[in-house]
Amino acid sequence: MKIETIAIHAGGGAAREAGPVISPLQLSTTFRRDAAGDFPGGYMYTRHGNPTRAELEKCLAAMEGGAAAACFASGSAAAMAVFQSLQPGDHVIVPEDMYMGIQNMIKEVVSRWKLEFSFADMSHPEEFLQPNTRLIWLETPSNPLMNVSSIAAITALAQDRDIITVCDNTFATPVFQRPLELGADLVMHSTTKYIGGHSDVLGGAIISREAGPFFEKVRQVQTLGGGVLSPFECYLTLRGVKTLACRMRVHDSNGLELARWLHGHRQVEKVFHPGLPDHPGYETARAQMSGYGGMFSFLIKGGRSEALNFINNCRIFAHATSLGGVESLIEHRASQEGPGSTSPENLLRVSTGIEHIDDLIEDMDRAFSITNA
Ligand SMILES: *Cc1c(COP(=O)(O)O)cnc(C)c1O
Repeated sequence: MKIETIAIHAGGGAAREAGPVISPLQLSTTFRRDAAGDFPGGYMYTRHGNPTRAELEKCLAAMEGGAAAACFASGSAAAMAVFQSLQPGDHVIVPEDMYMGIQNMIKEVVSRWKLEFSFADMSHPEEFLQPNTRLIWLETPSNPLMNVSSIAAITALAQDRDIITVCDNTFATPVFQRPLELGADLVMHSTTKYIGGHSDVLGGAIISREAGPFFEKVRQVQTLGGGVLSPFECYLTLRGVKTLACRMRVHDSNGLELARWLHGHRQVEKVFHPGLPDHPGYETARAQMSGYGGMFSFLIKGGRSEALNFINNCRIFAHATSLGGVESLIEHRASQEGPGSTSPENLLRVSTGIEHIDDLIEDMDRAFSITNA
């Protein structure tokens, strides 16, 4: 089946025995034993397993082409489960331009647990390898400069070295990028973003190519640690994922058209979109992605005040963080990332929604016309 069909039909109907076309939401936290003391439905207690969650996990595993998935209360909880599945003394290579929230998690929390981290330039990860390297984390395209790293090259480096590779596929989604097929062991998602797609449900997932020993540890952290995605949030995420492929095509075409329009604008210094030929990741992106989605960033001519002025002059683009919803958002990344941010003061990050492209361009056109630059 193609990804559009998988999104609607995969999941195995774990919660569908009564015959509804759409699976019922299963809120029960506990499940009956039969006379022999067994669990006839296969479920005992919702932290360990829940039919609505099982359906979402099966669906996400099928969409990424993996064997299994574990859903968490957020993308951050999913990332945390990966780190908690390592052993003390393990060394981890992560991108120097990794999602800021996970960088902070590593620096403030995870590095206390006798794990070593190298923040690496992912065009040369081999320079950071150590005898105890156990995991390489990829995030491509990255945030907010949309840097692209080669999934095949990095996962090849990990092979024969007993190194696990994880790819944060939040920006590209399985519609446009297939990390497991390119050699990654695990995919991580903030399902809060494109997969949920409507900015109303937080969640995260780890999808594994094989149901092997490392994934079993992730599963233990999920069910014993308890950071599971609640049934209602699983239900909303399942509802969102059905339209992922259609939404992504519109995010993609709107994002590219807007980026091209900005690229030629006299009040714009630079546009970071991997689909523009002058982007350093253009060739690699073309080789490993079949589309880009709606994320990009740009430098407005001027500084912080022009950037903030421009944002405040937009009407359709909401001034808010996050991404992947049907509505367009714009944010000043340096303010969002706070102290330690390396984002330029004149950088604006855009999550292009699925409104009509003419309205989006008109909104920015008007905002530029009243912004001094
Ligand atoms: C949002 C995001 C995360 C964190 O996910 P939460 O659901 O907010 O915890 C991780 N990686 C990327 C690329 C993200 O955009």
